Amino acid sequence: MSVTHDTNPLRLRVLRRVLTSRTCPQCGTGRLFRSWAKLEERCASCGLVYRREPGSMTGSMYSTAVVTEIFAALLIGLAWVLTDWSTAVFIAVAVPLVLVFSALVLPLCQAFWVGIEYLTDVGNGESWIRPR
Ligand SMILES: [Zn+2]
Repeated sequence: MSVTHDTNPLRLRVLRRVLTSRTCPQCGTGRLFRSWAKLEERCASCGLVYRREPGSMTGSMYSTAVVTEIFAALLIGLAWVLTDWSTAVFIAVAVPLVLVFSALVLPLCQAFWVGIEYLTDVGNGESWIRPR
């Protein structure tokens, strides 16, 4: 009989830490961000490095783009169904909304990606990982 290691509680704990409290995925104590959308280099409490290698945050860029494109598609659909705006009016309204939405969702996507990177490192059994 094989024994499997259930990581779901860890996954939930990590995602809750990064998404709701914006804290370190490993210890839940150190803050993730120095300022708006600017990650700390490492956790002040446990020392976990948030951006371990160049390109490690590419996933946050893609997730921000995907979420923003879904928002833009919803705006297009709503405007098409609910308004009779001209294209110029729609662009004048939608472009600022999409840009603001993208800026607002960026830190959330960065935090999400820090959590995903951490869980990947946990799954790979990396030596620097100390789940708590
Ligand atoms: Zn930490």
